[in-house]
Amino acid sequence: TKTVVAVDGPAGSGKSSVSKAAAKRLGFAYLDTGAAYRALAWHVLDSSVNPDEAPAVIASLASFDYAIGTDPDGYGVRVGKTDVTNSIREPRVSAAVSAVARVPEVRAHLTALFRDIIQHTEKRGIVVEGRDITTVVAPDATARILLTASEEARMSRRSAELATESASDVAIALQKRDRADSRVVDFMTAADGVVTVDSTNLNFDETVDAVLDVIRT
Ligand code: C5P
Repeated sequence: TKTVVAVDGPAGSGKSSVSKAAAKRLGFAYLDTGAAYRALAWHVLDSSVNPDEAPAVIASLASFDYAIGTDPDGYGVRVGKTDVTNSIREPRVSAAVSAVARVPEVRAHLTALFRDIIQHTEKRGIVVEGRDITTVVAPDATARILLTASEEARMSRRSAELATESASDVAIALQKRDRADSRVVDFMTAADGVVTVDSTNLNFDETVDAVLDVIRT
């Protein structure tokens, strides 16, 4: 049987890098579900659809031809023939993604894609990371983890990652996105059976070890 590790948490909690490192250590596949929501937001913008117009966003699902790799050492994201691995991180995509992600039809469509990827992975296990993995995508996962950190720690980590933008711009955009996202999915409180790992006072390696401890118990 396959081991499924579900990791949820807000932006800047270290979720992506920690999940990737844990997957590598275990020899597991890795699925970044946020990248899929970003790829759809990119597709919506590329089709000149207004991300706030839900019916048009829903219609654009029909032409959403998307592929994502599951290698924790480097995964590409493709929409149609375009490699969008880097462009899905652009601020214009970050600004559009919450509007796209709050449409229930979008969530149902992507959740089905994620379950398909989880089912078909060839590795012994997979670490799946996002906002609703422990609750909606894989509530029956082998291990379910909520990775949190104080708002201050999250903001400073994110602005260190994105050294090209000013720290205050990053903090404002991030707070806005977290606020919009948490109206749709509650990723700040652990559901029943979900283990919270608070990384506020842990360095990167300590956080990875804490996550591995949860997976192994
Ligand atoms: O993880 P990341 O910050 O890249 O996610 C981008 C966006 O995708 C989030 O801000 C959220 O709107 C959406 N998302 C989601 N559910 C997930 C993963 C991401 O709604 N499971």
